[in-house]
Amino acid sequence: MTQSLPSHAQVVIIGGGIHGCSVAYHLAKAGWKDVILLERKALTSGTTWHAAGLVGQLQGSHATTAFASYGVELLQEIEAETGQNPGFRQSGSISIAVNEERLAELKRKADFASLFGVEAHYMPTDAIAERWPLMNADGVLGGIHMPSDGSANPIDLTQALAKGARMHGATIRER
Ligand SMILES: Cc1cc2nc3c(=O)[nH]c(=O)nc-3n(C[C@H](O)[C@H](O)[C@H](O)COP(=O)(O)OP(=O)(O)OC[C@H]3O[C@@H](n4cnc5c(N)ncnc54)[C@H](O)[C@@H]3O)c2cc1C
Repeated sequence: MTQSLPSHAQVVIIGGGIHGCSVAYHLAKAGWKDVILLERKALTSGTTWHAAGLVGQLQGSHATTAFASYGVELLQEIEAETGQNPGFRQSGSISIAVNEERLAELKRKADFASLFGVEAHYMPTDAIAERWPLMNADGVLGGIHMPSDGSANPIDLTQALAKGARMHGATIRER
């Protein structure tokens, strides 16, 4: 059945994956009153449906680290606001390096994380193997442990953002 659409809006967001729903949520929460999101199929039916849901804060710049760190805060708060559990499990993560260049890159990214107050520390190979005994430690030079990383359910998180967007006044139309 064809649904009627408003003749105009302050902003039209095309696509109801995690990005579109996040933009709708944040604009509506910031006070934009005339936000509409149009999804050609169903929310999460695009790439979002396929994501493993890993939530990593080890990024390459100040801006992306700040975004990733904010993402974890949002994952911790969105259920209280919307009643929708995003399936966040704060298991921590370990990123490993098998060459010196990668190790230097990981350490640089860990410095960015620390600047934003995100706990990140170097782990020698034997400590990683102790934490993750299934790892083949051959050639592993060390890694970075991020205790506040984890995983979420991308579908549930997107639905939580969509619900929050609606609660703040956004309109979402599927199909
Ligand atoms: C196998 C796999 C594993 C992944 N694992 C992770 C992970 O662990 N962690 C992580 O952070 N990221 C992961 N990703 C990446 C993540 O899934 C994507 O970055 C994210 O889902 C992209 O979201 P999106 O909203 O931009 O796009 P999409 O989810 O693709 O949403 C776009 C939406 O737009 C709609 N659309 C398109 N054209 C139109 C139109 N003309 N009109 C209306 N609607 C339209 C589509 O139907 C779709 O629903 C993974 C990706 C894959 C494929």
